[in-house]
Amino acid sequence: MTPLETKIRKRINASGPLPVSEFMNMALCDPELGYYKTRNPIGGEGDFITSPEISQVFGEIIGLWCAVMWQASGSATDVKLVELGPGRGTLMSDMLRAIHATAPDFASAIDVHLVETSPVLRGLQEEALKEHKVTWHENVESIPGGKILVVANEFFDALPIDQFVKTEDGWQERCVSLSPNDDTLTFATMPMRHPNDADFPSEIVAAPVNSVFEENVVGKEITGSLAGRIAQDGIAALILDYGHNQHGLGDTLQAMKSHQFHNPLAEIGEIDLTAHVDFAALDAASTEQGCIVHGPIFQGDFLSSLGIEQRAEILSANASVKQANLLTDGCRRLIASDGMGTLFKAMALTPKDSVIPAGFEKRHNGVCE
Ligand code: SAH
Repeated sequence: MTPLETKIRKRINASGPLPVSEFMNMALCDPELGYYKTRNPIGGEGDFITSPEISQVFGEIIGLWCAVMWQASGSATDVKLVELGPGRGTLMSDMLRAIHATAPDFASAIDVHLVETSPVLRGLQEEALKEHKVTWHENVESIPGGKILVVANEFFDALPIDQFVKTEDGWQERCVSLSPNDDTLTFATMPMRHPNDADFPSEIVAAPVNSVFEENVVGKEITGSLAGRIAQDGIAALILDYGHNQHGLGDTLQAMKSHQFHNPLAEIGEIDLTAHVDFAALDAASTEQGCIVHGPIFQGDFLSSLGIEQRAEILSANASVKQANLLTDGCRRLIASDGMGTLFKAMALTPKDSVIPAGFEKRHNGVCE
């Protein structure tokens, strides 16, 4: 049993079953033993791999997307370039390299702000970005006012979700409890802490018995807060993650260890826990704050329309055969539908008077599945 499981069991014994969000919060962010507090989970040696770690071209393309967005919205002289959950710092490092090489005016207009709770990953970000001036934040609230350009890749899937289960007696909350039979950790249901069906989207309220509905309260709050700022002060946010366009039903909580699926209740603190992102919920939180939402569209369509394949080809021309193959394979994995091209989506938020962001022109507020 891991030390974090012991801590969770003590908590359940003292104050009863844990709602899934509280369980996830402890598993990922417990100040001493949480998964993100104690390790670098990303990369070949870690538990999962992300788009920026697959290919440098991903970050370069996103850096250029930011530069174009900045230019199209008036080339302001003071913009905060914000990344949520920057992992090893690879995405921001690739973005800044491309920005400095191709858009020096934009480079001198930005200062970089990273929102990161993991001390281990902050250390890696510091190393990856040592040539740049960077400010770290525990949460979005401390980012100074003014224009912001926000990028978040695989950030929202890492936030705690609540799960609700439809029973014969109505909706109940899913929780982690101790089994009365053998005292192992198990999923169970408990009465809703905030019994208010009105909070559920209307198409979900009447779902059949045994349906599971998930809600990412923290994700909605963060999105709403950033959207409010973007609507008022400008410029934009770009969210890339895996998930669904419409509110969906189903249990998407998943655990990963060493690139394999795992039992979410085993080896707690040493496994990654994520859930699919409900883009419709983020859309609603943004629209409520006065932003226009673009997409979500497939990541593959987004990256292809921004020229990721052409960029990989240009780099390949000056690379060794081995490097060229890596570039081609990486690019394919990011855009192919049997890779990350369709499960992953891109969504952008802008103020009402903004141009349509690059890559979203054809599918403004469109549906892609
Ligand atoms: N964007 C990176 C890493 C994705 S992993 C990439 O694409 O490689 C999720 C990231 O979000 C990690 O950096 C993790 O430490 C951070 N994170 C998780 N929960 C967070 C929270 N509540 N606040 C800020 N950062 C968080």
